[in-house]
Amino acid sequence: MDFDLSEEQKMLRDAIRSFASKEVAPLVDEAEKTSTFPVKLFPMMGDLGYLCLSYSPEYGAAGMGKLGECIAVEEVAYYSVGFAAATMVQGGIGTAAIYKHGTEEQKQKYLVPAIKGRKIASFGLTEPNAGSDAASLQTTAIKKDGKYYLNGTKIFITNGNISDFTVTAAYTDKSKGPRSGMSLFIVEKGMPGFTRSKLYKFCAKSGEIAELSFEDCQVPAENLIGEEGKGFPYVIESLMGGRISHASRSLGLARAAYDNALAYGNDRKQFGQTIGSFQANAFKLARMAMDIETARWMIYRAAWLYDQGRPHIREAAMAKLHASEAAVRTTMEALQICGGYGLMEDSIAQRYFRDARLGTITEGTSEIQLRVIAREIGVK
Ligand SMILES: Cc1cc2nc3c(=O)[nH]c(=O)nc-3n(C[C@H](O)[C@H](O)[C@H](O)COP(=O)(O)OP(=O)(O)OC[C@H]3O[C@@H](n4cnc5c(N)ncnc54)[C@H](O)[C@@H]3O)c2cc1C
Repeated sequence: MDFDLSEEQKMLRDAIRSFASKEVAPLVDEAEKTSTFPVKLFPMMGDLGYLCLSYSPEYGAAGMGKLGECIAVEEVAYYSVGFAAATMVQGGIGTAAIYKHGTEEQKQKYLVPAIKGRKIASFGLTEPNAGSDAASLQTTAIKKDGKYYLNGTKIFITNGNISDFTVTAAYTDKSKGPRSGMSLFIVEKGMPGFTRSKLYKFCAKSGEIAELSFEDCQVPAENLIGEEGKGFPYVIESLMGGRISHASRSLGLARAAYDNALAYGNDRKQFGQTIGSFQANAFKLARMAMDIETARWMIYRAAWLYDQGRPHIREAAMAKLHASEAAVRTTMEALQICGGYGLMEDSIAQRYFRDARLGTITEGTSEIQLRVIAREIGVK
């Protein structure tokens, strides 16, 4: 066994850590204030090879595997969960199906520019009446005269309003059920019948989400991804890998909240001593450190299994569940350590506290992860 990152992975971590502190951090306050993602980050990260890190160099990506992607997501999330959410869609759910099942033409048209940060991706699965139960979605795609006509609504779509294309799930034949009746399409902004409207949330404000509407939206037949009717298995596959990077996002946030609380605890004095030295606070910090450590190893192991092409469903769900809940615990206790200062509008501790809630809900809630784990461990 080897618990060390490779030299290449360490170099990636150090390089993206330095990039994040110099280039990402200064953009965060404004983005949080205005709930606006600075889209210039895409070409900046693309030029440095920090997007879509797990994809093959054949398409211009760095080919650093899932573990490389996780390292990068953690470093961006350390400064902004919203930025990490926006940029990880690019190398995750927003392009995974194109990467695995797309035609060469689709790869050149959408994937290559996404890797370079020249096109922004999003992924439209969730609908107003279909969240955890994604198979119950109502959007349809009917083929007529060489085109598909999409009708339906998607909600909470990360990058939805700023993306150049959205990988969208729709039923091509509902009577066949999700496993053979759902398909995936690439819908470009500006296609007739496709409209988007921005939504506002109380957390991770520096990332954007939107509602998407398709009204007889005309999509060329060549924008179907893979085989018609195979969309649902492609979705499940995309979400599975996404869970591991998603866990890294929570890890980056937990680490930031912990670092801030540790520094504050070692600095602030009450009763003639630093507040961190009171056992009540020292134990909180010790638990945070343990949560972060366990989350990291669960993520690295799940990513390692993924990169080896070995089964990873259980490990990915466990890593996502543990890391996101660890972030909730850590940010809550970190806020407590900061006392009244933590509650102030400009305190970073309150932002961490709000942002942690994203992790237990998006890309499969905690309850859905528990369902997956229960199934995987053999609960009948
Ligand atoms: C900020 C943000 C970004 C998002 N980005 C995207 C995106 O890019 N693309 C996309 O397609 N979707 C996206 N989503 C949607 C997200 O994946 C869903 O919100 C999530 O899957 C939960 O669905 P829901 O909100 O409809 O909750 P529901 O499914 O209605 O669940 C509500 C509650 O019931 C629980 N529950 C549901 N079913 C069960 C069950 N069987 N057993 C036990 N408990 C259950 C859930 O755990 C939850 O606590 C995003 C959401 C948010 C908030």
